[in-house]
Formats: sequence, structure tokens, C-alpha cells
Amino acid sequence: MSLRRALPVGTLLLLALSLTSCGASSAPVASGPAPSPAPSPSPTPTATPTAVPSPTPAPGPSASPTAVAPAPSPTPVPGGSATVVSRGNAARRMVALTFDAGADTGYAARILDILRANGIRASFGITGRWAEQNPDLVRRMVAEGHHLINHTYSHDSFTGRSTGRPPMTQAQRWQELDRTEEIVQRLTGASTKPYFRPPYGDYDASVNADVYARGYTYNVMWTVDSWGWRGIPAQEIVQRCLSLAEPGAIYIFHVGSASQDALALQAIIDGLRRAGYSFGTVPEVIAP
Ligand SMILES: [Zn+2]
Repeated sequence: MSLRRALPVGTLLLLALSLTSCGASSAPVASGPAPSPAPSPSPTPTATPTAVPSPTPAPGPSASPTAVAPAPSPTPVPGGSATVVSRGNAARRMVALTFDAGADTGYAARILDILRANGIRASFGITGRWAEQNPDLVRRMVAEGHHLINHTYSHDSFTGRSTGRPPMTQAQRWQELDRTEEIVQRLTGASTKPYFRPPYGDYDASVNADVYARGYTYNVMWTVDSWGWRGIPAQEIVQRCLSLAEPGAIYIFHVGSASQDALALQAIIDGLRRAGYSFGTVPEVIAP
């Protein structure tokens, strides 16, 4: 990759620790009345050790916009349920960096700069509202080869667990998904299907059924939560993310200004590379 930017060390740190950003719940805990498939150990559909002897040419810069891996999208069948994915293929020393965008614009541009400078393609969980407010950044994500996940339109909880409201109806959930998909398609021509990420990590069996019926066959959770949204300093984010690294890990970060994830990103990338990890989008990391 050329132009490695001298990133202006912004001093614009936490404006306020209003952790309203994406407020990912600390652990990928299933919620709601029907605690259904807990996203723990290995819900991956992929963990089958396919004896992949060639761990892919790894760290190489690969930000070519055309290199997006085709989504493994099983055709939805009525009555199915989205597969909860909280870890990718453990047979490869590859991890996925994912960034949720559902609050302010925050560090999105800087994160994209860092990813580009390092030749890394990532996954972004974006809300339709954020896309409407940041159309150029969404276009840039797609143009630079990143992958998009449907993070709903309004970032309301589908189950109500984290918001104290009643669960959304199926119609409301579909509207949240459809509206975002429509906006993303209009802006970029790309689709968010078949990847869904639940606001606050709130989901239950009914959510998995409803999103599946709308074409979202994957409920993308995570292996490692940076905890940046909790307001911990960048140095702690780095330490945490590196100590929890494992093959196939899916990391969750946030672009919003309430989190110092962006300030920790380069050190995390450097540390993971030193440990022999390469980087891929969610579709790449969960692939068999
Ligand atoms: Zn979020």
C-alpha cells in the first residue's frame, strides 16, 4: 500500500463518556424470554478443521475493491433460523476486525485510513440512520473493499432487553432491516445480506427466525469485545485485544467518539501481525 498517512494524533478524545454509542453488552449473551442458542463456544458453522494447509498468503495488502469474498449465503428457507456466529474458522490464523457505526461519525475516517494504510479489509456494522448521515463514508467503505453488516436502521433493541421496551414485532424488525438495506443499496450498490448484527447484542430465538426470513442467515456476534465503548483507555484496549487473540476471532470495535478503539487500532494490528495473524472480513473468516 502506498500513501501511509501520518495520522494526525487527534486530541479530540472522549467528549463525554456517554456510552450511548453502540453499547454492546459486555458479553454476547442471548436475551429475552427464550434464551435460545447461547453464542458461546463454537457456534460457527465452519469450525470443521478442513485441514486448510495453506493459511492464505496472509498479511499482504489486499484492499482491492474487487477482492470482496462472495458471501456464503445459503438460501433462506421458511421456518429457518439465522446461525449465530461468534467465532470464525479456528483452523486458520486469521481474525476479523468489525466496527459498529450506530452513533456519531466519530473516528470512522481515521479507522478507514488506518485500514487502508495496513492493507486490511474489515466488516462494518452500520445502521441505516448512520448511513444516511454519513453517505460519503459508507461509499468509501465499499470502495475500499470493506464488508457491510446490517445493524438495523435505528439501533433499537429487537428484544427490548437493553432498552426496557417491549420486543419489536416481526413487521418492525423487517422494516428496520429493509430500510437499512435499501439505503445501503442506493448509496453503494452493495448489499448487507446475509449478515445481521443485533444492536446491543440483543437477540433470542424469535429474532434469529425473523432475520433469517428476511434473508439474513448470519447473526454476527463476536469473540472479543474491545470494551472501548466502556471508555477504557487505548492502552488497555490494546492489551485486552492482544491477550484475547485466537484463531478465527471476531473483534468488535466502535467508530463513535465515545470509544478510543481507533486510537488503539494500529497497535492492535501490529501486535496481531507479530503473533502471526492475518486479517479478513467476516465472510472470509467464517468461510470453511
Ligand atoms: Zn451497535
